[in-house]
Amino acid sequence: MCASLKGIHWSTRTGNCLNIQLQHLRNYCVTSLLRRHSAATNAAATEAITFVPRHQDTSTAELAEFERVLRRFPRLAVITGAGISTESGVPDYRSAEVGLYARRGHRPITYQEFVSSEPARRRYWARNFAGWPRFSSVQPNAAHHALAVWQRRGRCSSLVTQNVDGLHTVAAGGEVTELHGSSHRVRCLGCDFTQSRHQLQRVLERANPQFAAEAPAALRPDGDVELDQDQVGRFVVPPCPDCGGLLMPDIVFFGDSVPRARVDSVRQAVADADALLVVGSSLHVYSAYRHVLQAVELDRPVLILNIGPTRGDKHAFYKLDGRAGLVLPRLRL
Ligand SMILES: [Zn+2]
Repeated sequence: MCASLKGIHWSTRTGNCLNIQLQHLRNYCVTSLLRRHSAATNAAATEAITFVPRHQDTSTAELAEFERVLRRFPRLAVITGAGISTESGVPDYRSAEVGLYARRGHRPITYQEFVSSEPARRRYWARNFAGWPRFSSVQPNAAHHALAVWQRRGRCSSLVTQNVDGLHTVAAGGEVTELHGSSHRVRCLGCDFTQSRHQLQRVLERANPQFAAEAPAALRPDGDVELDQDQVGRFVVPPCPDCGGLLMPDIVFFGDSVPRARVDSVRQAVADADALLVVGSSLHVYSAYRHVLQAVELDRPVLILNIGPTRGDKHAFYKLDGRAGLVLPRLRL
């Protein structure tokens, strides 16, 4: 998806998370076409590392200490953020130098813009269409697989993610609560129609045969997909086949809220756990941070594994500054 979504924001008035990861998708799109037409054979590995912030190796002593702490809590509720997917080649938002804030200056589309502006929707879907082949081909990394093992063993009693990339689901450890929805689903704003994003790609291809042929020429050297106005203007966005309404990805956009039932479900998961482990999130988004506050209220220890500081550090029972893909697979729980 190539929508620009630059931020993770929250409303202090409503307490609702807004944002999300359209930027995520956008950057995939971004690299998508470039990579499809690149001669480089190891581009995937290079790109994956590109999005991981600078960090120091975790020492054996630090690993042992983290392991000792985790063993005190048999049932962990785990919340993951963009930081867990950087090793899969997905950029995060706030990391110095490599995060989307640092790399790009695009303002995110908002829910309000999407529903009220036909040109904004057309631009959104055109970019989303261009980036989908790359975005949909990203694979889980060692951190996703480690958590999947914990799920199967019952060590992770509930897995919640802020990401919309679907990588935890691919890792197949068990049920995953996608706090901000999934880029792999599309829904109608006017009725109950839903379909997979893959299915919609076929529909968009049929509706835009010329676009697909022209898109590669629009790549920029930095890998961005810069679609010109003509291309965007000619992009055809089919309506809902059932009611003629607007189709949108099943994602919580900036300006929208996490559904209440989903929030309540995570609250229950945190209450049922022995501790809350946050992996790869700066916790700037209130939709995740609220559960850290809840854990503190319930006297559940908060453990954090992240590269760099987080908003939740002051509440942490234990914090390890480290790279999830290197740390989680080495823990013996
Ligand atoms: Zn509909």
